[in-house]
Amino acid sequence: MPAHDLLIANANVLHCAEDHLERCDIFIRDGRIAALLPASTTSRADAAETIDAASGLVMPGLVNAHAHSPENLARGRAERARLSAWRDAIWPDIDALTPDLLTLAIEIGAAEMIRCGVTSVVDHFRQTPMRDDALRAAIDAYAATGLRGTIAVMLRDGQSGAAAPMGAPHVASMASATEQIALVELMNSYAAGVGVTLAFGPSAPHRCSDALLEQLAGLDPAPLIHTHLNETAEDAETAHSRFGRSSIAQLHSLGLLRPTTACAHAVHVSGADIELLATREALVVHNPVSNLRLGSGIAPVPALLEAGIRIAIGTDGSASNDTQDVWEAIKLAALLPRIDARESTAWPSAATLLDMATRNGHRATGFSWTEPLAGVIAVGAPADLIVFDDDPLALHSTTAPSASLVFGRRCEPRHVIARGRFLMRDHALVTIDEEKLRRQVRSASRNAAA
Ligand SMILES: [Zn+2]
Repeated sequence: MPAHDLLIANANVLHCAEDHLERCDIFIRDGRIAALLPASTTSRADAAETIDAASGLVMPGLVNAHAHSPENLARGRAERARLSAWRDAIWPDIDALTPDLLTLAIEIGAAEMIRCGVTSVVDHFRQTPMRDDALRAAIDAYAATGLRGTIAVMLRDGQSGAAAPMGAPHVASMASATEQIALVELMNSYAAGVGVTLAFGPSAPHRCSDALLEQLAGLDPAPLIHTHLNETAEDAETAHSRFGRSSIAQLHSLGLLRPTTACAHAVHVSGADIELLATREALVVHNPVSNLRLGSGIAPVPALLEAGIRIAIGTDGSASNDTQDVWEAIKLAALLPRIDARESTAWPSAATLLDMATRNGHRATGFSWTEPLAGVIAVGAPADLIVFDDDPLALHSTTAPSASLVFGRRCEPRHVIARGRFLMRDHALVTIDEEKLRRQVRSASRNAAA
């Protein structure tokens, strides 16, 4: 009986934070990296199965730290609209999807993400009002994809005049804060049982009541929180006029600004906000493509980094991007800081960008808290890996590997592995039947057009 489940032989392992390559064999057992040994000193008989990486680059799987799966059914819409007009154009159609359509939306996003090399995703999952059948469908769908899925269930109970919740004027009524929180708690053990993580996803501090945020702050142990934060200037102004201070200061005063809180966007933040985010060790999730698509602005990444804030990378939903291609977001995150007048030393390095898109992403998935080695390649780390071909035309530089990945030609990995299991093998998806998915999408489009 071989000691290991899988051997990836002749790997060129990229240690992202150090921009350093290491030639080695990777042994995987029970979903973890069990050994990293010098290539050609090991025996293939030690593993039940061997794949030869043939000197191909191997790196940790990417984390898409902010997405909204229902938008996979609304790509390309409202292409010249800012956030509030865009939201009113998009969400009435996709806020009450059937469980079958939610499953379809999640599979569409998962197929694209796996082909990019994503192994973990945070889905800030919106249906308004939230329903238990919708949440169950999402949990089951992520479990089936094999991705490490974290579903941050969107909560909102702020009112905009009439009974309609803020950000969802087409919805007649909503559940109370207590009911919304209870639904997440009710589904938590079911999700954990199938390998999916649930988080609380207040839509934004100003779209929730203080009572809802206070209830979240009072939960013990401190739960994973995922929220939009100052995405647009309008968001920042609305929050300020409601709270009399910034939404960041408000979160802090409610006890919700803490290391387990991920703040998506943080485009419009003051120096004092940045200081608070840093001292409370909250995570920022940067969504550069979506921020430009909606004309929201550019997050001050150099200033956030200078303050010591951890940043992860997200695509945001497919109706404001319109892909789930994390590489595109990484490249834009690398380039955008260069248009201001700062010294070039303030631009994030390619190695920093890859660290954001791997290790930092697990602060948002919640995986960092139970698996400190999540997002790195090391003995004992979870076996979430992507394996590229050693193609000279792909120009994966051996002297500047991170820069060639961030700026260079986008290559699909040959293999994508999560929890030690293949999600893609030799460029073929393992957990998703792409032909069947194509047929289902065609049929869904025909029905929507009918
Ligand atoms: Zn979002």
